[in-house]
Amino acid sequence: MPAHARVYTSEALVLRRLDFGEADRILTLFTPSYGKVRAIAKGVRRTTSRLAGHLEPFTRTQVLLATGRDLDIITQAEARERLDALRSGLWHMSGAWYCSELIDRFLEDADPHPQLYRLYMQTLRVLNDGAAESESQLRCWLALRLFEMRLLDELGYRPALVNCAGCDTPLRPEENGYSAELGGVLCPNCSRYAQRRLSLAAFKVLRLLQTTTWEALPRLRLESNVQIELEGTLQLTLRYHLDRDLKTWSFLQGR
Ligand SMILES: [Zn+2]
Repeated sequence: MPAHARVYTSEALVLRRLDFGEADRILTLFTPSYGKVRAIAKGVRRTTSRLAGHLEPFTRTQVLLATGRDLDIITQAEARERLDALRSGLWHMSGAWYCSELIDRFLEDADPHPQLYRLYMQTLRVLNDGAAESESQLRCWLALRLFEMRLLDELGYRPALVNCAGCDTPLRPEENGYSAELGGVLCPNCSRYAQRRLSLAAFKVLRLLQTTTWEALPRLRLESNVQIELEGTLQLTLRYHLDRDLKTWSFLQGR
């Protein structure tokens, strides 16, 4: 954890907010260099506040913070990038909240993950483009799966997709098994320990998501049963590591 000065500046995205007192708000911020920071924005709910409108979810903001005893205090905020189109798409906005919730649940305070910050911002932009109808629904869906896969990587939970998670033999292009508990894909010999089956089509996409950047991700065409399989496999893994359900999952599954 970098030593906080008494006053420090950072770029930030709001993960979560909670109204507090008459006009204040307690915010959970995600920052590139300080990780998750809990801070109070005093008077922000008054329309006359200089902070008002600059500390909304899905808005990239430059903030000035003062270190407080329990919570840091936001003294200045200036929005730099607003993803306003997101608000017009319920599915897209739920996806954005879902990413926010994953970060909030998985990360401890003051644990910096600059790559995850960039990934989060990138995913929000794709979803925003999707809501503005300049990006397809499937690309948005893939951006969410890429986010999940990279989040697992970033947290040290990278699923084994090259060698069998059971016996370590190289995996082959065929139907395999999958176990979140054992740490990834299982070869046919070990598949009796699998929690679910993994089709070749889904296996290939998982490998792509683990190794390719968003920019290089090909324009895939996916059957809906493969999509369901991929969602299920990644959620099984996240759920195993998180050890409880996330509120927004049920909505996204009801797509
Ligand atoms: Zn095996």
